Amino acid sequence: ERSSEAADHHPRRRHILAVPYPGRGHINAMLNLCKIIASNTTHRQLLITFVLTEEWFGFIGSDPKPSNIRFATIPNVIPSELVRAANMRGFFEAIQTKMPEPIEELLDRIQIEAPVAVIISEVFLKWAVDVGRPRNIPVALLWPMSAAAFSIFYHFDLISENGHFPFDLPAKGEEIVDYIPGIPSIRLADLPTVLHKENFDQILATFANIQRAQYLLFTSIYELEPQIINAIKPKFLIPLYSLGPLIPHFNLGQTKSSSRTKQEEQNYFEWLDAQTPNSVLYVSMGSFLSASNTQTDEIAAGLRDSGVSFLWVARGDTSRLKEICGPSGMLVHWCEQLEVLCHPSVGGFWTHCGWNSTMESVFAGVPMLTFPIVIDQLPNSKLIVEDWKVGWRVKRVAESMPTREEIADLVRRFMSFNSQERKEMMARVIKLRDIPRRALKEGSSGSNLISFLAHLGI
Ligand code: UDP
Repeated sequence: ERSSEAADHHPRRRHILAVPYPGRGHINAMLNLCKIIASNTTHRQLLITFVLTEEWFGFIGSDPKPSNIRFATIPNVIPSELVRAANMRGFFEAIQTKMPEPIEELLDRIQIEAPVAVIISEVFLKWAVDVGRPRNIPVALLWPMSAAAFSIFYHFDLISENGHFPFDLPAKGEEIVDYIPGIPSIRLADLPTVLHKENFDQILATFANIQRAQYLLFTSIYELEPQIINAIKPKFLIPLYSLGPLIPHFNLGQTKSSSRTKQEEQNYFEWLDAQTPNSVLYVSMGSFLSASNTQTDEIAAGLRDSGVSFLWVARGDTSRLKEICGPSGMLVHWCEQLEVLCHPSVGGFWTHCGWNSTMESVFAGVPMLTFPIVIDQLPNSKLIVEDWKVGWRVKRVAESMPTREEIADLVRRFMSFNSQERKEMMARVIKLRDIPRRALKEGSSGSNLISFLAHLGI
């Protein structure tokens, strides 16, 4: 190694600083991207410094990762992850004001040891650009949602110019918005929830800031949203690379339940092993959201009455929920979601439509029951149900909650694999599943990653 380094006289910078937005879905995506980069670079000298707050380090610091990725911590300058869902605005503000300083200190420290070739951060961490600039370090901003959501946010001013803002919901929910580039038509009720007056300037500033970075990275896949990505690309002078799906390992479902080290994991995988193929509905609202208590009780009763077996990720005290669910429901606090989705017993996913979950479900070939709660989950639900046609809606945000009888009936029909509609949906799911599988290996995301790294000289 040393001699080849000496031979070209210009030792390359092979040090990446990864600064994720502090939230589970965001950290997972960024860490997966780093793992993909690590496995695509043959240089042993590559080093990735991955920044976590102390709290997050406590949650995932001991998770397995390649040896050329190392975690670095900054103090807990932002409110606890545990209050994130309750105070989203305060959380977001703290991220903007309190994070840059410790990151700069860290960067200046690690630069002495190995100069940083690129800072990979997130579109929502605007200040990353101001950290890179004075130090002459290029900044790549990762967009953690669909290209569709990007186009909607980016063209927020169009919504206003067309008189659709502020949203008049539910009254005008069915009105069609047909002027967002790359999206021929979307109902007003399917636009992200955060598009309201107080956020207007913040959103415009966040998207105007992208042009000040050197790269824009998408977690989506070109072949999944080609029209939209084609519409977005010409708006930027900087390169845009779609790198999804951010799924670093392909040999899933290999671990035997009995060889799992964590007891809870062993329990639910053994339970899954005991179910018949495609019979289980996996239920999750993501890493930090929950439905309200009354909604949760209604969902639980509906699932129980459907007669379908289900594995449900629920946070907090689940004793009441356990009682309602009865013996056909397996409740866990956290699970290895991607492996669960790839388990042969799983035949459906009741999802809040977070972008990572959506991509994982597409990758695993599992049809979805959509239950969006906030932000981009609404347009994601529309992509799943209307564009890809690999899922059914439970409800829209602005609609009233279905009763337990309606839920039971919906779940039963959704999971009955002899029905014609299920068969047709499965055929589409299987076809769609090819896109992420191909993209990383021989497809667009694989070659985009190579271009990105080559551009950086890594
Ligand atoms: N996740 C998991 N186990 C769980 C719940 C979630 O591994 O029990 C992972 C899931 O696989 C996904 C991420 O957490 O990668 C959640 O991201 P997503 O964008 O779907 O939703 P968010 O939590 O950001 O709303």
